[in-house]
Amino acid sequence: MSAHPGRGDNGRVTDPDQLRLLAVHAHPDDESSKGAATMAKYVAEGARVMVATCTGGERGSVLNPAMDRPEVWERMTEIRTHEMAKAREILGIEQEFLGFVDSGLPEGDPLPPLPEGCFALGDLEEQTRELVALIRRERPHVMTTYDEKGGYPHPDHIRCHEVSMAAFEAAGDPDRFPDAGEPWQPLKLYYNTTFHKERLVALHTAMTDRGIESPYGEWLENWVDKPEDAGRVTTRVPCADYFPTRDQALIAHATQVDPNGRWFTCPIDLQQATWPTEDFQLARCLVDTALPEDDLFAGIRETVHS
Ligand SMILES: [Zn+2]
Repeated sequence: MSAHPGRGDNGRVTDPDQLRLLAVHAHPDDESSKGAATMAKYVAEGARVMVATCTGGERGSVLNPAMDRPEVWERMTEIRTHEMAKAREILGIEQEFLGFVDSGLPEGDPLPPLPEGCFALGDLEEQTRELVALIRRERPHVMTTYDEKGGYPHPDHIRCHEVSMAAFEAAGDPDRFPDAGEPWQPLKLYYNTTFHKERLVALHTAMTDRGIESPYGEWLENWVDKPEDAGRVTTRVPCADYFPTRDQALIAHATQVDPNGRWFTCPIDLQQATWPTEDFQLARCLVDTALPEDDLFAGIRETVHS
């Protein structure tokens, strides 16, 4: 018996029938707010889901008033690692830190320079190597990451996109990083697109109709439509049964998430009725599939289980 079920002596994932997903995220907590219900669903169906967390979230602020205490600020890295472990258990996923240092979200005018040694200023080639090594060990069929704008403009999210794209291209190429494991080519890559306008409008309208004050009003009023965002959603994964699991995982990130905050204003049953999917954009695809899709493994499931 191997110490890790489904893994060979070299630590590589070996079960040929298991579908595998690798979600690349910038900070601990991002995995719980972007695609978490999708991950929990695939885990329940028997897939192996790995989250690669690029940074330790060292420069995150405390966004939950109940946790805004000096002893929390002093032990931020340790606490966020612990929170991530809890969320990992709730979602049933595997998770690894890639070991880079949070860049923080620069604020002010002019913006202050990024701190030395941070993820966003690091060497892209070196960072790509770390993710390539993980891909070659985990052998995912599908990857998820953020779009070219990071989903929102945090420098670590943009770098997360760059590293993910570079690693997707390099992992299957025997000439790239030959000492980082046996080549493995993931077949699809998606961007998380859950926070798109159509969904926010639907939730906003549903809450307003039910007499609940929507937290999205101001956000939508200030929304600027960008041509590159039209038609991003190619794939809607039904996962409403796992919305409560997603919320539990989010709450596990206690320093980052206020359980009384706007994340939780919309009742679960209203979300389930109004927008029962998490949504993605298919950005790279090496298999045959027909859009729109409702499954990240469409076009892959058939061959893996053959
Ligand atoms: Zn983040």
